[in-house]
Amino acid sequence: MPIDSAPDTSVPDTRPNSYRAGPDERGHFGLFGGRFVAETLMPLILDLERAFEDAKADPSFGEELADLLAHYGGRPSPLYYAERLTENLRGVSRKIGGAGGAKVYFKRDELNHTGSHKINNCLGQILLARRMGKTRIIAETGAGQHGVAVATVCARFGLPCEIYMGATDVERQKPNVVRMHMLEAKVNPVTSGAGTLKDAMNEALRDWVTNVHDTYYIIGTAAGPHPYPEMVRDFQSVIGVEAREQMMEREGRLPDTLVACIGGGSNAIGLFHPFLDDDTVTIYGVEAGGHGIDVANGHAASMSGGAPGVLHGNRTYLLQDGDGQILEGHSISAGLDYPGVGPEHSWLKQTGRVNYVPITDKEALEAFQLCAKLEGIIPALEPAHALAHVLKLAPTLPEDNLLMMNMCGRGDKDVFAVAKHLGMDV
Ligand SMILES: *Cc1c(COP(=O)(O)O)cnc(C)c1O
Repeated sequence: MPIDSAPDTSVPDTRPNSYRAGPDERGHFGLFGGRFVAETLMPLILDLERAFEDAKADPSFGEELADLLAHYGGRPSPLYYAERLTENLRGVSRKIGGAGGAKVYFKRDELNHTGSHKINNCLGQILLARRMGKTRIIAETGAGQHGVAVATVCARFGLPCEIYMGATDVERQKPNVVRMHMLEAKVNPVTSGAGTLKDAMNEALRDWVTNVHDTYYIIGTAAGPHPYPEMVRDFQSVIGVEAREQMMEREGRLPDTLVACIGGGSNAIGLFHPFLDDDTVTIYGVEAGGHGIDVANGHAASMSGGAPGVLHGNRTYLLQDGDGQILEGHSISAGLDYPGVGPEHSWLKQTGRVNYVPITDKEALEAFQLCAKLEGIIPALEPAHALAHVLKLAPTLPEDNLLMMNMCGRGDKDVFAVAKHLGMDV
């Protein structure tokens, strides 16, 4: 073979055959993921992996979960054409000489029981816990949304539960703490570190190792050691599977653009995953830019403003200083200030399949207000970040561009915090 026809190996083709095939059997998404855990935790992780594989292959598991999602959770969530927002953004497009303005749809996961997408994952994991014969449930929570969803499914299945929550968060998120107590969960304030989500997750992992025999740990996002990122993704993928069918029904074709906010990344991967191999679909994950990604420790954008490292059992993008110390980060939204991100997102960033962009606190607040005013929907501050990116992006897209955003939570929990930021008298 003449030398000049040899393939150019200086630019390796990193595009996988399928973006939906991962992770590998040891939980790797490219260079990310895996299971970096203490030896004592390894048997539990392997046990869980086997139980999850077994449940996936059992049609009765899928049927029971589908029934609960429908009649307890409230699925399918509607796909809603946000007409007034679309008209407004088309006006902006005309003003800036944009391409016309995309047609904006909301996937309404804020209508789920307990007010967000978290219940999708909790219903899946509680069925798995019961299947494994576990009699005690533990979980970590930051803003308290996951804690409330866990306490809810534990009440429904009659299992005792303990929720680890940073002491700082217990103070900041009183209404959710009260909800957990009403659902008869035990809330354990964690005082180590800064008393926030990272510390609560460490404490939950410690409890798990100590109480292996009877305890199941429900992780709340698509992070942690393998198989959690894959498992949480699979339970949340109901969002994208429904959205795909609903858009086909409404418009007769796939969406062109997807947008979702990223804390640990579970609502986003749930929407994105069924579309990852559709080349025509452009995808945006929106991180918490806080005061701006140039402000040291002033944001929670692990991918836009962090670097790879190991935390909570997996390798992924993290907020860290020059010495590899994990930073606390900041976001107006307590649900987005996890210092890491699920490993699959790190891989989707590295392969270029998904675009990750930051949105500041201020931009999210403006989007929050506009959504309430134009659509009569008070969004949670987390999806208000996704919406803020939609406000920038949609006017640059043509009128036939079908844009779908995940409205992953409702704003009831945030109204007092937002009122304070806006200087409203309450
Ligand atoms: C918890 C939460 C998030 C962040 O978690 P992800 O795993 O990134 O989805 C986002 N939005 C809402 C409404 C939440 O409750």
